[in-house]
Amino acid sequence: MLAFTYQGAGQSAKLIDLERPDPGPGEVLLRIGANTVCGTDLRILRGEKTNLDMGVVLGHEVAGWIDTLGEGVSGYRVGDLATVVPSLSCGTCQLCVRGYEHLCDDAPLVGYQVNGGLAEFMLVPECAVSARRLISASNSELRPEQVALTEPISCCLGGQRNYQVHVSDTVVILGAGPIGLIHLQLALLAGARHVVVSDPSGPRRAAAEHFGATHTVDPATGNLEETVLGLTDGHGADVAVLCIGIPALLNQALRLVRKRGRVSVFAGFAKEGWSEIAANLIHYREITVTGASNSGREQFAEALQLIVDGRINTTDMVTHRFPLSQATEAIDFVATGEGIKVAVIPDWNYNHHQKEQNNA
Ligand SMILES: [Zn+2]
Ligand SMILES: [Zn+2]
Repeated sequence: MLAFTYQGAGQSAKLIDLERPDPGPGEVLLRIGANTVCGTDLRILRGEKTNLDMGVVLGHEVAGWIDTLGEGVSGYRVGDLATVVPSLSCGTCQLCVRGYEHLCDDAPLVGYQVNGGLAEFMLVPECAVSARRLISASNSELRPEQVALTEPISCCLGGQRNYQVHVSDTVVILGAGPIGLIHLQLALLAGARHVVVSDPSGPRRAAAEHFGATHTVDPATGNLEETVLGLTDGHGADVAVLCIGIPALLNQALRLVRKRGRVSVFAGFAKEGWSEIAANLIHYREITVTGASNSGREQFAEALQLIVDGRINTTDMVTHRFPLSQATEAIDFVATGEGIKVAVIPDWNYNHHQKEQNNA
């Protein structure tokens, strides 16, 4: 089978021919339907992340059909569309026990140490199957690329759980990439009154409006602070969510929120992530700063339910598709920042999808 594999920090990944895995006892073989590309994949290939195993199959936003059940596997049905929680948390460490399995210190990650979704098939390890980190979608009408978005949506839900959106809040989203657009939709679902999205790109602001932003601002020409103060009687936003890893934006986010407001450092920053901030903003204004990293089964179940119920728009999120044989081109395209989400689809399914589009 074709697989897109990691070749070391800063090296370009390589498409190679791997033997199709055979599920052993407790394992499940997925026939990949789609794997969406994440900003993290770019950071991996730029060499910003180094905790990957040499030769591992990349991709952690995966969806596929259950193809073969290993001996002893129950509770799954061949042919069902499913996705995998990428953190294969240990279940026994202090963090897992306290309910923070996404922060587990001993969790191999799909697409880092465990072969991921940029391939034709993926072997779901026994520990993932037995812990129900393989999750089937109950709606068979969904496309795999929609189900693959469970992962980024679940991460945003985890972030939102930390920063909290209350009914009638004013939320500012900095950056209208795929992650910003998901936070935007989740803020609206949580009952936000205003969701202000700031992004220098015109097409991205248009996308934000399409997904329901009540206001968009071009930070190059518009005054974000003025807009936010104008909407909030001069108090500031309840929440600001940093969806792009630009260090200077953190201080801006601190200035945008009201006293007792919340700032989420959702985006990862390059290297150690240094950023100069006016700490007194946090001190005097009693601002809460929250983080976010990965997600667990609970957020996965919630995210998939939103997708299944159509309460979050996933169909318009995937704007570009590439066959697996052009995975390198797909990554290069993501790096241009054009489009929203890019799906990499095994060639047989890609060709099938193209035919369907042509017939439609
Ligand atoms: Zn991701
Ligand atoms: Zn653990």
